[in-house]
Amino acid sequence: MAIDPHGDAQLQGVSIRSLPKVSLHDHLDGALRPATIIELADEIGLDVPETDADALGDWFAEKSDSGSLVEYLRTFDVTTSVMQTADGLRRVAKEFVEDLAADGVIYGEVRWAPEQHLARGLSLEEAVEAVQEGIEEGEDAAESAGRDIRVGQLITAMRHADRSLEIAELAVAFRGRGAVGFDIAGAEDGFPAANHRAAFDYLASEFFPVTIHAGEAAGLDSIRSALIDGRALRLGHGVRIAEDLEVVSQKGEETFVTFGDLARWVRDREIPLELSPSSNLQTGAITAWGTEMADHPFDLLYQLGFSVTVNVDNRLMSRTSLTRELAVLADTFEYDLDDLEAFQLNAAAAAFLSVEEREELIELIGEGFAS
Ligand SMILES: [Zn+2]
Repeated sequence: MAIDPHGDAQLQGVSIRSLPKVSLHDHLDGALRPATIIELADEIGLDVPETDADALGDWFAEKSDSGSLVEYLRTFDVTTSVMQTADGLRRVAKEFVEDLAADGVIYGEVRWAPEQHLARGLSLEEAVEAVQEGIEEGEDAAESAGRDIRVGQLITAMRHADRSLEIAELAVAFRGRGAVGFDIAGAEDGFPAANHRAAFDYLASEFFPVTIHAGEAAGLDSIRSALIDGRALRLGHGVRIAEDLEVVSQKGEETFVTFGDLARWVRDREIPLELSPSSNLQTGAITAWGTEMADHPFDLLYQLGFSVTVNVDNRLMSRTSLTRELAVLADTFEYDLDDLEAFQLNAAAAAFLSVEEREELIELIGEGFAS
């Protein structure tokens, strides 16, 4: 589907972009504007692969689509290289929020790993403060443009590193000052949540919300570890939970499926899945089912009653937006506005906010879809 990341799409005569949306899985270092990368690189005397914004946007898309994980990860070296100063972090965070608001998002959670932003002398605390300032500037700018948005930080630790307890303490220290949750990211395969048990024990003792990347680059064991060792309240992608389902027969419209214990738990406890359709396709998370969007188990999980949410993961690398992801899903699985509303209500219910704040979001979504 040809919708550019800043474009719109219509469904049943309604602009998808104008609908109130909630974005839960959205990486700060995967959402930069190409023009900003060029300007920030120039300020600190760094070379970037292209000096024209459109060409740089193409470069990111090509590297991310190359099928090579090495090439894909190289793109993050470029984005994080211009996010090593307070000014760089602040600007990127501000624009992150403005771009979300322009896409119709009313609540977002931005995840990023402070430990990857210390190369030019920032402390962990200074990095989190800079991002928070940028978020607040972005919220103010959006409000001036007539759009209300709130964004919380998901403080992320890198799972191949050994700083997770320190990062967990950082997240808790910033509770009430911007941080709403904790995540681990990076190489999933071979680095289960169990490796970070000390951090997760600490977070649980502080009643601090946790989401964990699991069921993307690794399968059911990783999801199990996220739930048991990490006490994750949500699963980052979690798409490979579908490996615990067996389609036994198909009668007309009806599909008969048997559940493994893990899939049954995730479904019945309504543990939200932060599915990211385009990204899941690009990273090979769904290769067990195929290589086309129609092969994505998104619809199977939705029809079976899993709490599915729709996410962008990395807007720049996947050249996407929440509007575009929803349009692609609607196009692929013939969803209507009621389906799109259900995804937003799932996301609002899964937000790391108080129950009153979540109810407020749910009300806003109901109103937006009704009008
Ligand atoms: Zn992610």
